[in-house]
Amino acid sequence: MSPVSDMGGREIRLESIERRSLVNRSRVEYGTWGINHVQGCSHGCLYCYACSEAKAHGRVRNYQEWCVPKVVGNAVEQIQRELARKRTPIDRVHLCFATDPFMWDSATGSAHPEIAGMTLEVMKSLNDQGIPVTVLTKGIYPELDLSGLHPDNQYGITAVSLGEEFHAAWETNTPSVFDRIEALRVLAEAGARTWVSVEPYPTPNIDPTASDVDALLNELEFVDKFIFGRLNYTLAVTQYLKNVDASFYARIAADVKAWCVMRDKPLHIKHRTPLYNPATKTILAVDFDYWNAVG
Ligand code: SF4
Repeated sequence: MSPVSDMGGREIRLESIERRSLVNRSRVEYGTWGINHVQGCSHGCLYCYACSEAKAHGRVRNYQEWCVPKVVGNAVEQIQRELARKRTPIDRVHLCFATDPFMWDSATGSAHPEIAGMTLEVMKSLNDQGIPVTVLTKGIYPELDLSGLHPDNQYGITAVSLGEEFHAAWETNTPSVFDRIEALRVLAEAGARTWVSVEPYPTPNIDPTASDVDALLNELEFVDKFIFGRLNYTLAVTQYLKNVDASFYARIAADVKAWCVMRDKPLHIKHRTPLYNPATKTILAVDFDYWNAVG
């Protein structure tokens, strides 16, 4: 076990748990298969759906417990076992839909080494079997030796706002969005395939910068693929749409689409967001022909 910090900056020990099933079908529309080799996430984003799901399934009792991550100690062995048994071919695996594979420790100001190390082991064990991964983090990518990894891996970050006020209130324990973008830029310049999840996108009552999505997208111009989606299941958002501007997401989705079309960037707009297009939900397939899909 190695040290990790809780929400109050106190040092705690990282516990290990065991899982009997890790390689699972994705319930997120743009994924096919997914692995969560960590339970919980110290980022503690206030809008986290994975935390709500973990509570609903009795994996954690509350938000505080969710914010103390536990690694799956048998992850690599378990993944190898499951891959050997699977009859259906696995085209790619997403890391991760219900935790963060390069989780940031806000108390030390660095990635948590045990989690990053395990993520790299999981990536390599999949890549060694010819399976590429799609990675999504709100942390910072470490320096990666891309020559030892699958060339079709796709490296992504979540970036929904450049606003400091929103970051401090809703994503308190994540690194600055500018640092996330910079780490992704380093990978892009080294030749990696990149993508960004602009989801869950906030409304202006919780993020004063939300009306100007182009400012955020302009920081991401080097990225290959884009996914956009609204913030769901949040009272402040519902109230904004009801009382202030019902067409907010229609306008922002149109702005995102126009920005991407102008730059020839593949885009998927998620289910429940205006301009959703099911034809683009396989955007992260390696051989996905975007321009053929959108017609
Ligand atoms: S980074 Fe993702 S998994 Fe972690 S708390 Fe935030 S939304 Fe949840």
